[in-house]
Amino acid sequence: MGCAQAATILIAVFAAISAYSQAVSPSASTSGPSKSASGGLPNLGDGSDLTPSAERRLGDRVARALYRDSDYLDDPVIMEHVQAIWQPLLAAARLRGDLPSDMDEAYSWEILLGRDRTVNAFALPGAYFGMHLGLIAVVTSRDELASVMAHELSHVTQRHISRMMTRQSEQAPWLLGAMILGILAASKDPNAASAMIVGGQAAAAQTQLNFSRDMEREADRVGFGVATQAGFAGEGFVSMFEKLQQASKLSDNGSFPYLRSHPLTTERMADMQSRIPSALGLQARANLPLEMDHAMVSARARVLANGAVDALRAWYAEAQPESVQRVLPAQQAGTLYGAALAATKLRDFPQAQTLLKRLNGVVRSDAPANRLATLLAAEIQLAQANPKGALGLLSDAGLTAKATSKGPSRAELFLLTQAETQSGTPVTQALQDWLAAHPRDAQGWQLLAGAYGAQGRTVSAIRAEAEANFAQLDYGAALSRLRSAQDVIRKGPAGIDHIEASIVDTRARQIEVLAREQALER
Ligand SMILES: [Zn+2]
Repeated sequence: MGCAQAATILIAVFAAISAYSQAVSPSASTSGPSKSASGGLPNLGDGSDLTPSAERRLGDRVARALYRDSDYLDDPVIMEHVQAIWQPLLAAARLRGDLPSDMDEAYSWEILLGRDRTVNAFALPGAYFGMHLGLIAVVTSRDELASVMAHELSHVTQRHISRMMTRQSEQAPWLLGAMILGILAASKDPNAASAMIVGGQAAAAQTQLNFSRDMEREADRVGFGVATQAGFAGEGFVSMFEKLQQASKLSDNGSFPYLRSHPLTTERMADMQSRIPSALGLQARANLPLEMDHAMVSARARVLANGAVDALRAWYAEAQPESVQRVLPAQQAGTLYGAALAATKLRDFPQAQTLLKRLNGVVRSDAPANRLATLLAAEIQLAQANPKGALGLLSDAGLTAKATSKGPSRAELFLLTQAETQSGTPVTQALQDWLAAHPRDAQGWQLLAGAYGAQGRTVSAIRAEAEANFAQLDYGAALSRLRSAQDVIRKGPAGIDHIEASIVDTRARQIEVLAREQALER
């Protein structure tokens, strides 16, 4: 979201909020009957808790806007790394009884990545979680990332979000949604002039939406239990706190928004420190090893967060053999991976190949790192429009559709699909199987749409686009795609696939209802 746009939203939102809160402020309306002061505006809760489904609807509203944001990013490699931490945390929370089934089912538990260099993570209503690439770029271990994620997760499981939203619930849901989006937009670029105009108001609303110190303490404590139960080292909390403290000592230049919502206190740090068995203590956490594949994913986050030519070129300098030789193998792998990806973004393919060759030398004996290097090699081939090369690399490494009984992982599957689409090979059954199991995978539907489009299967391609819109909760857009599919069928020549045509009609009827409801939500 651009700054000017963000500022406009904020001004509009805050004008509306102040007008509205005057109308319904507790001083003006001390008891029940005056609820009528809210006029036609819907009430989320009459002093009672926001129901999980109402909170989910609010979260959906925010998520729908975030999906449309140009900074929203679903990178399969980074996402897989994040999910490999997130799923064990959720499982541990369930095991501990922190995640009651009503909450489990009503909420989304989805992570949305943002192409943003700043260090931030936040929980949203309905258990959507935002995470900036800047956070993934600065953490040096899975344990550190797990500490932040477990903390944010615990804000939701301890119902901090619900309580906060209930406190705000005299406001109309669309206002709340817009307010959250406005704060997110403002927090992205605190130095921008447009953000400064409304900075004071944003700060005021931010405090309203900030968690209390007790809530922060509780999220630390519960988060620590969840992360360690999931098998992550509790030292991750301490080293993450140290990292944030280091950053706060250097004047806050806005690159650590997480610090603004989470001011560090010595008490919080001491509390986490005290939970680590003293036998481990300080030495153990200094020895948390830097894992090769983590270093590579972290480097990927850094490259994708900052696509400026200067930043991409800076990787070349870092990857000079004499600088690389001085660091640990895991750091070498990260630097070479980042540099090879940066060269690919700069379309400097000879350089990318040279760096890749050096990377392969470093990762040879580390299976997860080796796999990431192969995926990058395939990515480089695709960037050069050499799908055969990409398919060859993936099949030589055994990373193909038939590799396992479960089928390929998402990252492999998506590269395979792109390669098949580029080379004009009909798309394999594997992607359809994947989507049958993961119907909310918007990027999967987009890739399927591209594959169908390349084969001239127009109706199927448009239907897949509609499913991508549907997965991102944009029912209006989904319906309009289905309507165009119906047009094509109506005007089309003979040979229309009747099964596909009936699917289109069925989906149009289902989604029409949802689109109507969505249009009424105000
Ligand atoms: Zn917190």
